[in-house]
Amino acid sequence: MKITVLTLFPETMESLLEYSIIGKAVEKNLLNINYVNIRDYSQNKHNKVDDYPYSGGPGMLLKVDSLSEALDDMVKSKSKVIYMSPKGKLLNQDKVKELSKEKDIVIISGHYEGIDQRVIDNYVNEEISIGDYVLTGGELPALVLIDSISRLIPGVLGNEDSHQNETFEDNLLEHPQYTRPFNYKGYKVPEILLSGDHEKIKRWKKYKSIEATIKNRPDLLKDEEKIMKEYKKLKEEFK
Ligand code: SAM
Repeated sequence: MKITVLTLFPETMESLLEYSIIGKAVEKNLLNINYVNIRDYSQNKHNKVDDYPYSGGPGMLLKVDSLSEALDDMVKSKSKVIYMSPKGKLLNQDKVKELSKEKDIVIISGHYEGIDQRVIDNYVNEEISIGDYVLTGGELPALVLIDSISRLIPGVLGNEDSHQNETFEDNLLEHPQYTRPFNYKGYKVPEILLSGDHEKIKRWKKYKSIEATIKNRPDLLKDEEKIMKEYKKLKEEFK
């Protein structure tokens, strides 16, 4: 997959990803990330890429000319162009999965008060938000998107099963996990996990998954009646 990010801070973004699993995926050529400095496309002798909004209002906007020139250079016929924006559709794991199948993604990282609407109207396929809050720039949102998509590309995570039973699979949160030591200052790992009874462990994990989802994200539960019935049965088994 090829990802191109249009940003005012290419070095910062690159350095943040360089040492991560994503950086290793780039080294292994599983992923190609291209950081493009919007300022390189400034149409102004002072390298300015922002200006005041028409009709007033606070702050500055990234200008249509520099962004358009950059996009004309970077966008190919099969590219998917995404603008990171608090006004976008909320990112979730289904969207991440869908995007992980793309071959060429171009991400616009906004700044100041945002970008000229003509860029959105004429180039952008999707506006994506990473949450209902406003950040100062699109760099962190773009990194979140890149990280979440990249780890689903085959070969990027060492273990291909890593994301099979993860949070959001089957609309449930992941069950709790433990590692050595078995007993830390009296805090013990649940005995069931050492029982070797794989079927029972599977049921316990499902029980704990449902429990965590009811507690923290009841909004995720689909077919609530069925799942609550299953939960009751499992609770009885593991009480
Ligand atoms: N004036 C804009 C508004 O009210 O919608 C907010 C602009 S914000 C200060 C600057 C940039 O940060 C945006 O252009 C966008 O790229 C990015 N950004 C901020 N919050 C975001 C979020 N929740 N999700 C994705 N991008 C975000």
